[in-house]
Amino acid sequence: MRPNSPRRKSGFGLSQIATLMMVAAALAAIVFVGVIGYVLIVERGPRAADSVTTTPSGAPSSDLASPTEAGPATFPALSAEQTHVVTPGETLIGIAAAYNVPVDVLKQVNHLADPATIYPGQQLIIPASLALTPTASLVTLAPTLPPTLSPDDPANLALISGWPRSLSGGSEEELRGNYPQLLLRPRFTLRYQPGTYPDLYINDLVALVEAALADVEARLGVQLDGSFDVYAAGTLFVGDDINIRGLSRSKDRKVFILFDGTGDPVERAYAITHEIAHVVAWNTWGTPSSTMLSEGLATATGQIELESGGFIPYDQLCLGLAAADQMESMAVIDRDPKKFQGHIENRFNYFSAACFVRYLIDSYGLEAMSQLYHTSSYPELYGGRSLEALDAEWQASLKTRSGDLVIDPAALVEMNRRVNNAYDTIFSNYNGTPQMHQAYIAVDKARIALWRGDYEAADRWLAETYRLSGFQQP
Ligand SMILES: [Zn+2]
Repeated sequence: MRPNSPRRKSGFGLSQIATLMMVAAALAAIVFVGVIGYVLIVERGPRAADSVTTTPSGAPSSDLASPTEAGPATFPALSAEQTHVVTPGETLIGIAAAYNVPVDVLKQVNHLADPATIYPGQQLIIPASLALTPTASLVTLAPTLPPTLSPDDPANLALISGWPRSLSGGSEEELRGNYPQLLLRPRFTLRYQPGTYPDLYINDLVALVEAALADVEARLGVQLDGSFDVYAAGTLFVGDDINIRGLSRSKDRKVFILFDGTGDPVERAYAITHEIAHVVAWNTWGTPSSTMLSEGLATATGQIELESGGFIPYDQLCLGLAAADQMESMAVIDRDPKKFQGHIENRFNYFSAACFVRYLIDSYGLEAMSQLYHTSSYPELYGGRSLEALDAEWQASLKTRSGDLVIDPAALVEMNRRVNNAYDTIFSNYNGTPQMHQAYIAVDKARIALWRGDYEAADRWLAETYRLSGFQQP
């Protein structure tokens, strides 16, 4: 969700996947997981901790005995299963992570209700069929959890896994170390980290990427040749990219997506569609001529997921911004890439640009947009009209439609400001402790509530964010 930055040369093409598989096979245990039908390659390269210095200073590991390794590379019989006795403070999600078993599978084989509750002394069956080498150490969360935040929230996996912060770029070697696991699909390669959310919800991620790719190609009317890489970050990105939920290095055909259990299914589908739209547009229509067009198109392509999933329709956001006189000039944001520093920082700019791009497509057709994208030749493509003239035309059309506005723009702008302030506080003080991570989960829930138009819930989660982080709510 950041502007594309042309960096290194291309990533993997189809021809390189065969080579990659042979190399990986030599280094790695190849596990055929029959039930999901994918080829899963677990690289046994250096641990990410070897090449990355940032390590969460989370809670200490518990003294829970390491589960035994499930051996064979073929799909083992269920008779090889083992039992785990629940100790005080353990959570279902933590146990699932320790044994590298999906929570849903654990619930199913133990006939646990939904929501599942476990108790100390309870014996849980751990199915060996999916129990690969245990990679996660179990962490006992701080006992001061607020009543509103479940200890089994999947977003806690980022801490439980103990995995370092995620890279949003770097050398191939660094990326291999930080995202050591591979899953090959015909049109893309998924790269992820053991014991993190993508590892436990890999089927969801595959389905999301496949659906997003199909949607993007259908909406743009193109077909992407070759394959691309998806780096699924199970932990927050390192450094200044801590506030980034996704970015694309489109020239390299690399997509980085935060898939750490925060957000919600609708917003995750949006984020993945947005990033894949960058890669597909860049590699079919050509290198974008402006950040505004690049982000506007990616946002417009992905926003259908948000609207159909119950988020505030982006048309309403734009009507609201126009009514509140908060709409930026498209010509101004076209010249300033700093206006697109991620959805958390500059959310309104992404959606204004999306409304503008959608207006141009609806009024003048997709073909003109496919040419504009890599040229910014407004007058040639739009009957002599400049960007400024088209911007004025579009903003005037929003004013004439003010009767369609149903949301309260002042409330939206104010809540957006408060959520952004809370993010600034959390991200500038994030230190990886369980308490601070819980505060991050809480502000993320405030963000989702805001974009679903539930300001009461957003208000509650903001209060929770400040309570957990120990900072004063301004
Ligand atoms: Zn973007």
